[in-house]
Amino acid sequence: MGSVPNLLGMCGVAGIYAPGHDAARLAFFALYALQHRGQESAGIAAADGGTLRSHKEMGLLGAIFDEENLRELNGYISVGHTRYSTTGSSIVVNAQPLLEQSVLGDFAFAHNGNLTNTDELRETLSPGVTLQATSDSEVMAKVIVEGSGSMMDRITSLLERARGAYSIALCTKDELYAFRDPWGVRPLCLGTYGQGGYVVASESCALATIGANYVRELKPGEIIRVSKDGLESVMVRPGEKTALCMFEYIYFARPDSNFSGESVYMARYRMGRELAREYPVEADVVMAVPDSAIPGAIGYAAEAQLPYVEGLIKNRYIGRTFISPEQDMRSRGVHLKFNPVVENLNQQRVVVVDDSIVRGTTTPRIVQLLREAGASEVHVRISSPPIMHPCYLGVDMATYDELIAANHTVEEIRQRIGADSLGYLSLDGLVASTGRKRDEMCLGCLTGTYPNVPAWHASRAAPV
Ligand code: 5GP
Ligand code: MG
Repeated sequence: MGSVPNLLGMCGVAGIYAPGHDAARLAFFALYALQHRGQESAGIAAADGGTLRSHKEMGLLGAIFDEENLRELNGYISVGHTRYSTTGSSIVVNAQPLLEQSVLGDFAFAHNGNLTNTDELRETLSPGVTLQATSDSEVMAKVIVEGSGSMMDRITSLLERARGAYSIALCTKDELYAFRDPWGVRPLCLGTYGQGGYVVASESCALATIGANYVRELKPGEIIRVSKDGLESVMVRPGEKTALCMFEYIYFARPDSNFSGESVYMARYRMGRELAREYPVEADVVMAVPDSAIPGAIGYAAEAQLPYVEGLIKNRYIGRTFISPEQDMRSRGVHLKFNPVVENLNQQRVVVVDDSIVRGTTTPRIVQLLREAGASEVHVRISSPPIMHPCYLGVDMATYDELIAANHTVEEIRQRIGADSLGYLSLDGLVASTGRKRDEMCLGCLTGTYPNVPAWHASRAAPV
């Protein structure tokens, strides 16, 4: 059987090669734009042509880095990582970039995604290899350590053997590499920076933040190498079927990012418009569950010709708190994150749009909050289809048991969340909203068909 699949999950990665610039500082600001992809830990490694140094800690970027530790990360090359939180592996040894030593010298490795054949790869490592971390990322890094030939040869060999999702930025003391699995599950884009500089990042919003110029997405199965000789590109397994994760469009990516020139904001806006066509309702106002559902709700309101209002204000600083509230406060649960704008809700028939229902914990609380604020009707609209199947490729939804739509009908879910009505966007409507071809996306969590997952995963049927 396979290994525990979801240790790493969603993350943000960035890589900088910028002669004459402070690459760690650029990585810091690029990662700041990718903080939404992971808040558990973060790190930056930097190289100056001679030495590779790194700093990583648990927590948010702004708390980890200061002038002093950034200044120590000297050099014109860097890679950085923000790590998503999943349970059981929240320890600093799993923070990235991973630092590895090989006969070619030291390298730093930052991974977004999730492997599906970690055990198989681990068995190819020599018995003496000790693994510090518990992640698939470390196994991949060790495959490179134990490989032969140049760094490019070793990465090529890794891409020929590793299955699953991986978008990776890697640097040595004087080169930057970036590569994407042959299915292109997780995003990774390339930009130029200043004179002869290059940047790679999980999302284009990071390029925009530091003033890099977007050039293109890395192709599925592409390895790029940036060195004093410029940029070189190698394609590995180019015949594989492309499968960009649909959940990036639904929830994960920042709306100001583009994938291959397609705006995530506009895709979500169109999802909302389509949702209004598929599930219209007599109502007074349309609102979003902030922040991720805002473009969808604006689209719904436009199509329905209803006013878009702010019904909930999200505390943008709550993030991840390790201080548990007093019992009285804990029972107020969702109030820590959202407070209602009563004036927009009282005696109103409210359409509330969210991007997804995963476990089904958020939505019933939201509905209750809106009713307490005086809403006379609450109509829930979800700008994605029901999430019916786990993700093995990096999104934090690992088992059938925890997915409400794998275990209940839409009508049962409506009752559980306490809504007057519930409508989910159709799969066709979703795909059309992205402007991409259906067979170039991973729709595994919606359809149960995965692009590159071993049969033992895909063949597991959902419990009835
Ligand atoms: P649920 O409470 O049903 O498990 O999750 C649905 C809510 O969580 C939605 O508001 C959605 O925006 C958000 N959400 C969806 N996927 C993720 C995720 O991977 N991580 C986090 N933190 N929130 C998510
Ligand atoms: Mg949300």
